[in-house]
Amino acid sequence: MSEPAIPDHLHTILLPTPFPVGPVNVYLAEGEPLTLIDVGPRYDPARRALEAALSARGHRIADLQRLILTHTHADHCGLAAELKRASGAEVLTHAANFPWLAEDADARRLAFYAEVMGWAGVPAEVLVALSQVRHSMNRYTEPVVPDRALADGDVLRLGGEEWQVLHTPGHAGGLICLYQPRRRLLLSSDHLLRDISSNPLVEPPAPGETERPRRLVEYMAQLRRVAELDIALALPGHGPPITDHRALIHERLAFHEERARRVLETLGDDALTVHEIASALFPDLDPVNYFLAISEVIGHLQWLEVESRVTHSEQSGVAFWRRVG
Ligand SMILES: [Zn+2]
Repeated sequence: MSEPAIPDHLHTILLPTPFPVGPVNVYLAEGEPLTLIDVGPRYDPARRALEAALSARGHRIADLQRLILTHTHADHCGLAAELKRASGAEVLTHAANFPWLAEDADARRLAFYAEVMGWAGVPAEVLVALSQVRHSMNRYTEPVVPDRALADGDVLRLGGEEWQVLHTPGHAGGLICLYQPRRRLLLSSDHLLRDISSNPLVEPPAPGETERPRRLVEYMAQLRRVAELDIALALPGHGPPITDHRALIHERLAFHEERARRVLETLGDDALTVHEIASALFPDLDPVNYFLAISEVIGHLQWLEVESRVTHSEQSGVAFWRRVG
């Protein structure tokens, strides 16, 4: 007899976000220590919904003892600093997330995006619109100092049961999933979502490193890794649970193959910038979706380059891409 996938001590809490993705799922693990896995954005409706959900189970924010952050996007981690102040809870996340939770994260991020967008050939007026979006995103999060780093293979106790930490970079460089082999249960965060293809976002290199991460390449490798795991149910960061993770991963890999094929087709025999490719593939995007499109095209170009199907050369800091052969 296999055990029920979702243990009695684990509860999904749906919190509203101000973002197009819609609500975020955070998870409450009851028992010692009382733990929240992701915390929601720094946003009044989310704060109220969290308080109500905790109180429905007889807890207060002050009772929280541990906060696990799966990655540093505002919809997942925005309230962490505030909850930590109110409860004294210990904050745990992957070490790769530490720099992006720090006070100076935003300045470093801004400098990087200015550079990478220039490299992608993004025109100045689009850059202005993008920086306004970034600025408004900042309202929904706050720097926080983590207490402890989690690494791939670490074992955590939630509600008296052992869970494994999986470091699955891609959507974000520090993204972690939590896996319980006995129940065949995965908390998949934004690594695997049922109804949305998670976008590996362009991110700055870690402080002290210069090479730009290849998030889509990492993401596809981590999808293949998770496909190997024995999983009955995956509880994601957004949307409903996933019951057939292998079929879904297969779909995602096929989707990225198809997108890469379209990037190659768009290139034809020309040498194009990321901006030119993104504008041809996805015309008339608003700034948020334009940023996602740029991220995605960079991801696909880096992947195609690793496979020696495209190459790039730089002229005055702008990259021009062409097909190989
Ligand atoms: Zn995310």
